[in-house]
Amino acid sequence: MTFTIHGAGISGGIAIGRAQLASHELLEVTHYTIAKNKIRGEKARYDKAIKAVAKELNQLKKHAPQDMPEAEFDAFLNLHRMILEDSTLSEAPKELIESMMCNAEWALKLQLDNLLDQFSKIEDNYLRERRTDVRQVAERVLKALLGRPGQAPVAQPEENTIIVAHDLSPTDVVLFKQHKFASFITDLGGATSHTAIVARSLNIPSVVALHQARTLIQEDELIIVDGTAGVVIVDPDEIVLSEYEVKREQWLLEQQKLKRIRKNRTATLDGTDIDLFANIELPDDVKAAKENGASGVGLFRTEFLFLNRGDLPPEDEQYEAYRKVVKDMKGSPITIRTFDLGADKQAEGYTRVTPNPALGQRAIRLCLAEPRLFHHQLRAILRASAHGDIRILIPMLSNIHEVDQALHLIEEAKESLDNDKLKYDREIQIGGMIEVPAAALSINSFLQKLDFISIGTNDLIQYTLAIDRTDDAVAHLYDPMHPAVISLLSTIIKAANKAGKSVAVCGEIAGDPNLTRLLLGMGLRTFSMHPAHLLSVKQKVLTSNLSELSNKAKKILRTQVPDRIETLIDALNEAA
Ligand code: PEP
Ligand code: MG
Repeated sequence: MTFTIHGAGISGGIAIGRAQLASHELLEVTHYTIAKNKIRGEKARYDKAIKAVAKELNQLKKHAPQDMPEAEFDAFLNLHRMILEDSTLSEAPKELIESMMCNAEWALKLQLDNLLDQFSKIEDNYLRERRTDVRQVAERVLKALLGRPGQAPVAQPEENTIIVAHDLSPTDVVLFKQHKFASFITDLGGATSHTAIVARSLNIPSVVALHQARTLIQEDELIIVDGTAGVVIVDPDEIVLSEYEVKREQWLLEQQKLKRIRKNRTATLDGTDIDLFANIELPDDVKAAKENGASGVGLFRTEFLFLNRGDLPPEDEQYEAYRKVVKDMKGSPITIRTFDLGADKQAEGYTRVTPNPALGQRAIRLCLAEPRLFHHQLRAILRASAHGDIRILIPMLSNIHEVDQALHLIEEAKESLDNDKLKYDREIQIGGMIEVPAAALSINSFLQKLDFISIGTNDLIQYTLAIDRTDDAVAHLYDPMHPAVISLLSTIIKAANKAGKSVAVCGEIAGDPNLTRLLLGMGLRTFSMHPAHLLSVKQKVLTSNLSELSNKAKKILRTQVPDRIETLIDALNEAA
């Protein structure tokens, strides 16, 4: 039966494919107690699931992925078989069913938590990394228990697969970069969560905040994902399907057409040059930045180098990553943000999940609390600055003392490089992210000490409107056009322009073509966004007349009524 689910579209376009249910750390497992006389049956149910997975793994042998050597795939399957047969997975949960009188799914989840906990304490990197395999095998058993046996994940080309999950962490989504899934959709998450941000870099249509998708959609069901409208259509009929196939073709065609302006000079109709930079998470994202004609990297979210691993990237490894970006971008400026770990980006063992992560020890707060960690990153960035135009960007500043301390630590890193006789750019520019209202409201003191600023609107909106950007329950309250947000933005941009310091916006609104003219009208000349959005923003710039925008933006700034603001922004966009 066909039905539609609405959520928040986070990456435009249309995908049509088959659902693959993904479970994140078995989060969705429910717990119920069972009567004593049901224990035997529950244990037998668990045995049956184990047997089903053993059979599934045997069948998988016939479906070795094309891009994986056979020997490697055999080793992978053998490891998974061993994990499955080990008594910690095949027997221990049955003991838990008995002692706790609970359902098999819950017993499996408890045992998995135990195992993952033990693994995280292992010092050997290789063994610690096997956590992922244990989790994958446990997920297969869970699927079998729930009566949704795992499809051989490689039986169907990834291009036709739509990942359906209750929740995904940014760390999970980063792993998708190695795959070619058609789309992913989740129940939780907000449009500016880091999960959504990474999804944009994958450039696949995706929708979050669907609330019930994971429960309503069945494995292998045909689904359409409209990432622009934030809609998911499950089991569509022939007519709807062909309608969306046409829409998909049109969307692809529009993307093709946009490519034609890639090499054009980025200037307004009245001749002012505008800088459009790319936001990247990993060095390989430079490819997309170049393909879309970015004039440089405006935000390199370096914390992604710290995710999906059990240790920290050593200084040399970081240096190589930064050097690769600056080399690959062939002389264009690269703004490297020092790591913004904490909140929704956790590096196992180095960050703590605190009661209120967005307000906890995140970004510069963590760097100042862990100066050794920071020191190595600063040295790595400085060393890479010997190879090109690199700038340092400090995230989440709220207090001017944090600037003083960061500058002091940068000086120390420079001295240590001098002692080691290593080269770096002595004039390297240091900037700060303005993303906490306190910094926005005392912008002049920050401008005095910094060479440039970059406005992180994702956090600025989160903290100004008190909306957790990762929480789907309040996702609808996220509003870049809120009068308070517009007024703060204008204050920051004006102050920076007056002080003669460069100012960029690098939050997601920089990539929203509906807001390009408003930002231009406020005096913004530098935008940094995901490469996928670059050309549509560029098209907006090419058709904008700066001389008309300033007065119109002033009018919007004077307006306090949200609906009126929206109408005025629409009018701004309609003008030629
Ligand atoms: C922002 O907050 O707008 C920003 C660009 O940084 P991040 O999304 O990584 O927090
Ligand atoms: Mg931020």
